[in-house]
Amino acid sequence: MSFVCGLCGKSGADNIHHKYTILCDECLVKQPPICDFCSATDVKWRYEVESFMVKDDPIAAMGGPANRSVADWAACDECHELIENEEYSKLTLRSVESSPGWKETAPAIKRRILEMLGGMHLQFIKGRLGPPTPEPTNPMTMEEKVARLRRMKEAK
Ligand SMILES: [Zn+2]
Ligand SMILES: [Zn+2]
Repeated sequence: MSFVCGLCGKSGADNIHHKYTILCDECLVKQPPICDFCSATDVKWRYEVESFMVKDDPIAAMGGPANRSVADWAACDECHELIENEEYSKLTLRSVESSPGWKETAPAIKRRILEMLGGMHLQFIKGRLGPPTPEPTNPMTMEEKVARLRRMKEAK
């Protein structure tokens, strides 16, 4: 099955995105970096993480692209602190509470999302490759970012 990019409409898009649902590689790398936990825009840290497929993914269950975590995760200062202090349940709670419409979500669905995100964060913790690095001040060019993203997907 092929999916179209939520921004440019190109087919074959397979990156899950909070705001546009699905993005192609080119559109994904053009998005300003956001914290992968709470969506904050002040990304300060990068975590190298082994790529993994999200278990129990409700989007994949509905026929959407499998929610895949690709190699590195961005974190803001607050989430970085929760990770370093191993306050993982607080981290998951912070993450769900930042998602749009969370307050209006039905309790049964909230539980489901909490479980899924908690599981995903557990996979993140297990797949971590060493200490985090500060977000680079001279970011890569768009071409370098796309090339890097493709390499990481192929490496899986
Ligand atoms: Zn696109
Ligand atoms: Zn954050």
